[in-house]
Amino acid sequence: MRIDIVSIFPGYLEPLNLSLIGSAQRAGLLDIRVHDLRQWTHDRHRSVDDTPYGGGAGMVMRPEPWGEALDALTDTDATPDRPHLVVPSPGGRVFNQDVAGSLATEPWLAFACGRYEGIDERVIDQAGEMMPVSVLSLGDYVLGGGEVAALAMVEAITRLVPGVIGNEESLTEESHTGGLLEYPVYTKPPRWRGREVPAVLRSGHHEAIQQWRTQQRRQRTAERRPDLVAPTGNALRLTGALDHRGDLLIAPATAADAGELLTLARACWLAEAREQDSFLIPALTEDLDDVLTWMAQWRTWVVRMDGRIIGSVRARRAGRNWDIGRLMVAPDVQGCGLGRALMEHAEGAAPTELTGFTVFTGAHSTRNERLYRRAGYQVSGHSDFRGEATVELYKPRPSSRLQ
Ligand code: SAM
Repeated sequence: MRIDIVSIFPGYLEPLNLSLIGSAQRAGLLDIRVHDLRQWTHDRHRSVDDTPYGGGAGMVMRPEPWGEALDALTDTDATPDRPHLVVPSPGGRVFNQDVAGSLATEPWLAFACGRYEGIDERVIDQAGEMMPVSVLSLGDYVLGGGEVAALAMVEAITRLVPGVIGNEESLTEESHTGGLLEYPVYTKPPRWRGREVPAVLRSGHHEAIQQWRTQQRRQRTAERRPDLVAPTGNALRLTGALDHRGDLLIAPATAADAGELLTLARACWLAEAREQDSFLIPALTEDLDDVLTWMAQWRTWVVRMDGRIIGSVRARRAGRNWDIGRLMVAPDVQGCGLGRALMEHAEGAAPTELTGFTVFTGAHSTRNERLYRRAGYQVSGHSDFRGEATVELYKPRPSSRLQ
């Protein structure tokens, strides 16, 4: 991944040469280039700011040096020829683990670090016509400049880039993966200042440990971040045979759901395997580790009925599109509107700056293709995934707009 950072204080970004990110740069996984905005000024004082139109306190960053900086960044032979521009701002959409995960899939990011009262708005408007732009806030407080925000975002994003963290398994149950905080962690000694490590963690009983950790994640999230728990209460109203069940809740999947998702995938894709006359469909060949790996990279939601998962869908950013996949409905509840409701939920979760939705299905999956066409998708391409012919379908987002 390439990352360009433009700032009037390039020295602020020096910590990016340390620790994991420094090693990842030396290993060639990351190519981070820090630029001094003042190299694109032409006056004796190398000035980058001026008084605000309309009056008021403080200074505003002038558009000319920023315009030249962004022109210089995009005037290259690089592929792709445009970065995804991140503009840190307290007035932006809040940066979180989902946003970090989406940006980690981009090949090239650029950060425009503001100072003073911010950057002349026309710079961001014009950049939006040339490249994807995300205006992102680190949180609901005001920093003196965008450098600390860029440092934090680059660290959160790059540790999700494959290879940057040695043990990628450590990403799967972290805070904010699957919408929950992490469980409490302990190390040796087993007793310290009269406090014991919970016995279950020393029991060696893997399943009991997993259950304890899931329960701790739910409890900790409810206590410390009830705002994270609340959005899980989205209700889906189903029809047909499930009408009498009332609303079912759709919730973010957690690592503890991986086993059930594996089982559901096998049940759901069996029919497709028959239709395609091939069992080499990825959803049928993967194991539990594969499921845990993709769950760390996608947002995944599940719907439960009587305690068991009866439906699921996943989504993530793919360039300017929101890639939706693994739409699963348990065989005994198909035809009740659950697939459509899951699709609508996944589409509704797309970050506002994305312009369209994509789905993939097997080239011979006429049933899936019909479902997607009914939802407004049209075939946009054919490709080959691990030797299996697949069809890509696309739907533009209604009135999409850059943030
Ligand atoms: N006048 C601006 C406002 O009220 O929205 C605040 C400008 S702030 C003093 C200067 C710069 O710091 C911003 O342009 C932005 O780059 C950065 N910044 C400040 N707080 C931030 C936050 N919470 N998240 C991301 N960037 C922030």
